[in-house]
Amino acid sequence: MLNKASLVQFLAQPLKIVITTHHKPDGDAMGSSLGLYNYLIQFNHHITVISPTDYPANLSWMPGNEHVIVFTEQVEQAYNLIAEADAIFCLDFNALSRINQMEPLVAKSKAKKIMIDHHLEPESFDDFRYWDIKACATAQLIYTFIVEILNDKAHINKEVATCLYAGILTDSASFCLPNTTSAVHRITADLIDAGAVNYLIYDLIYDNTSENRLRFLGNCLFNKLEVLYEYNTAIISVTKEELEQFDINTGDTEGIVNYGLSIAGVNLAAFFVERTDRVKLSLRSKGTFPANEICKNYFGGGGHRNAAGGLSDYSLQETINQFKLILPKYKNLLTQ
Ligand code: 5GP
Ligand code: MN
Repeated sequence: MLNKASLVQFLAQPLKIVITTHHKPDGDAMGSSLGLYNYLIQFNHHITVISPTDYPANLSWMPGNEHVIVFTEQVEQAYNLIAEADAIFCLDFNALSRINQMEPLVAKSKAKKIMIDHHLEPESFDDFRYWDIKACATAQLIYTFIVEILNDKAHINKEVATCLYAGILTDSASFCLPNTTSAVHRITADLIDAGAVNYLIYDLIYDNTSENRLRFLGNCLFNKLEVLYEYNTAIISVTKEELEQFDINTGDTEGIVNYGLSIAGVNLAAFFVERTDRVKLSLRSKGTFPANEICKNYFGGGGHRNAAGGLSDYSLQETINQFKLILPKYKNLLTQ
């Protein structure tokens, strides 16, 4: 195990470093990984960001993105980098199963594993943990890790700031979730002062969609939305055929779940997507409703109280039926 002092000492020498994050990385996963990457490349390390899988085009503009290795596309190179690493930063995930096929490689690696994360109930695979479930984004924790643990605010340059801002922007649902505290706003103000251009970052992430994706969203809202007023719950589901019809790629379904919550009175929004092998479920909730509890107890997943996900081996319709059967158990919480 490392403590704060020994970690700082360890990082002061030239190291082979791998930074990784959860599969199907979102804005926070890529923002925190590339934010840390852009910080560490200012020193004498050899650093590689390895993503377990590909990620959406609207996250591919961040500084350093051209050096990211996608594990599924460059297995041998990634394998060697993990095997030879002195340190592996594990960002924005709390269980090794979240890195898919990389799990056994990271598990058996002799590298020091440094977990920086904000998910509930982390597994113990790390040598150093910088973890806070109150953080709105792992990118927020990368900022405080650099400022408070490494005492090195001076090295938060434009590239670092840009990536961290992107992570905070996306994981806080554009500064809307309850965990977007005044401290978060102070950090984002610092990031803007360090060179992050807030309106350009927003534009690159959110105003960068394709016509297909917009029509797909229209289809979801017009044809696929089901509102269960009895339970203040909204459901949207998508079949494999629809994904093909609209030529939907990685990340194109991101955020659609949130539209359900925009209906007055709705406290729980669910989004089901029929992937090639399994059905993926995303839940979003308002207030104290524990979306993560449903994902953990019934769909082998987890996440945060207001944003969680899980998987099902049943068919799309069976999974939706199962979800509907769970709602009566939560009726009081949903309708209070
Ligand atoms: P999303 O619905 O966007 O995939 O995920 C929402 C949140 O739930 C994210 O913070 C993500 O880390 C978490 N999450 C999604 N799927 C899973 C899962 O299968 N297991 C766990 N533990 N967390 C998940
Ligand atoms: Mn996150």
